[in-house]
Amino acid sequence: ATMPPLLSAMANAGRHGVLVKSAVVMERLAQVDAVALDKTGTLTEGTPRVTDVRPLPGGSVTEEELLRLAAAAEHSSEHPLARAVVDAARGRGLDLPPARDFASAPGTGVSAVVDGRTVAVGSPARLLDGGAHPAAAAAAALEEDGRTAVLVTLDGVPAGVLGIADRLRADAAAATAALGALTGSAPVLVTGDNPRAAARLAREAGITDVRAGLLPQDKVAAVREMERAGRRVLVVGDGVNDAPALAAAHTGIAMGRAGSDLALETADAVVVRDELAALPAVVRLARRARRLVV
Ligand code: ADP
Ligand code: MG
Repeated sequence: ATMPPLLSAMANAGRHGVLVKSAVVMERLAQVDAVALDKTGTLTEGTPRVTDVRPLPGGSVTEEELLRLAAAAEHSSEHPLARAVVDAARGRGLDLPPARDFASAPGTGVSAVVDGRTVAVGSPARLLDGGAHPAAAAAAALEEDGRTAVLVTLDGVPAGVLGIADRLRADAAAATAALGALTGSAPVLVTGDNPRAAARLAREAGITDVRAGLLPQDKVAAVREMERAGRRVLVVGDGVNDAPALAAAHTGIAMGRAGSDLALETADAVVVRDELAALPAVVRLARRARRLVV
């Protein structure tokens, strides 16, 4: 017996490394005419590395102490930046003290009590609330170099910044170009990261429409705005911070290899092998199946 077109398209998607959760998703994928992509872990490999450890001049901590406290606070976070910080500390042979009262705010950062002090690690813009502080200048200097800067505060006082770098996926530029051609609209980058690092990476990926510094609900607002303009938006993301946008989108696809459980559960489909080339491939498959169905 021959399989119905939508089912055989789902099977083909599987061969491209995309797990499509239902035949309805295949139909919806065929309709998308705009794409919004997350940056960290989606366009980038999601295995960032700490490149700079900079205590503030005149501050109270050494380089090693700054990294040790930050890593202890990040220990319970599943964010790619957290893993980078923990790996950097381990790489220097530092022992991580236990942390308690861990809390995380998607799109902002984490905090925990370590060695009796409250350690926060996260977005300089959010932790400093846009205020002028020597730490903001230190972060901006790293961001000019395309780094993601994270601020470390001790009991609310800025102690230093970490510079973190991630690589664009090898097939990012080709995949976004193909998605742009297929949908007839310029792909949009939606990221919680800083505008400087976002712009630099977007340039490498050939993306011109960049929305940076977004909280999870801002990503939802960006998608809704595109949908009000008559677009059916495909959202691609990997993080907890992407889950609301994945849910709000016409179709949501999660990057599976390092994706957070929440993103994988919320998305309509999952890219299992983490190849961005699979995205235009499944859109083409979905469209072909629709032509056979109608
Ligand atoms: P993206 O949208 O690019 O995937 P996120 O929304 O996950 O980025 O994060 C946005 C920003 O929030 C990061 O650039 C960082 O400044 C901060 N942040 C979020 N989670 C963490 C964390 N666990 N440790 C440090 N910083 C974090
Ligand atoms: Mg992400």
